[in-house]
Amino acid sequence: MDTLVVASSNKHKIEEISKVTKKFGIDVISRDEAGIPKDIEIEENGSTFEENSYIKAKSIMDICGKATIADDSGLMVEALGGAPGVYSARFAGEDQNDERNNEKLKDLLRDVPYKDRRAKFISVITVLFPDGRKIVARGECPGHIIEEERGNNGFGYDPLFVPEGYGSTFGMLSPEVKNEISHRALALKSLAKELEKIAP
Ligand code: IMP
Repeated sequence: MDTLVVASSNKHKIEEISKVTKKFGIDVISRDEAGIPKDIEIEENGSTFEENSYIKAKSIMDICGKATIADDSGLMVEALGGAPGVYSARFAGEDQNDERNNEKLKDLLRDVPYKDRRAKFISVITVLFPDGRKIVARGECPGHIIEEERGNNGFGYDPLFVPEGYGSTFGMLSPEVKNEISHRALALKSLAKELEKIAP
C-alpha cells in the first residue's frame, strides 16, 4: 500500500493526516484526486464518531476501490450534555458554517462559569482496505471553551477551545503545536503504531 484516499475535502484534515502517513512512505490523495464526483455526498447518519468514520471510509472505498482513510471528529461540551458531538459540523445548520457554529456555542454557554466549561475534541480515524482489513484509532483532547474567539489559526471551534495545560486557544497555537497535542494528532499517533505493523 503506498496511497490512501482521504474521504474528506477538508484541506486542514488532509494536511494533518498526510504529515503522519508520509513517515510511512504512504501518500494521501483527496477524494477529488481519486476521481470521486463532487456531487456525491455521504450521509453521516451514525450516532457515534466510530459509526460516521466507518460510513465515510466505506462509502468512498466502495466507489474508488482503493484503501481509504476517514476521520470523524467533533467537540463534546460537558455543560451541554456532550453536544454538539457528531453534529459539530452542522451545529447551527446544514451548511457547515464555522462562524455561526461558534456563535451558537457562545450563546448556549453565555451564563456558564469557566470551571463548568469543560470540553473535549474527539477524533476517530478508520482505515479500510479492499481486502477487508480495518484499522480504527481514537484520540481525545481535553480543554475548556472560552467566552470570545481568540486567534486565526486552524478551523472550526479552534478559536474558542483552550487545550488543557495551555493558556492559548487552538486558534492561537501554531499548527506544529496543535499537530502534537490535538485529538487528530493523538488518533494519528495510535494509527501510526498500527500502520507500523503492516508497513514497517
Ligand atoms: P466532520 O468533518 O464531519 O468530522 O466534522 C467535524 C467538525 O467538528 C468540524 O466541522 C468542526 O466543526 C469540528 N472539528 C473537528 N476537528 C476540529 C479541530 O481540530 N478544530 C476545530 N474544530 C474541529
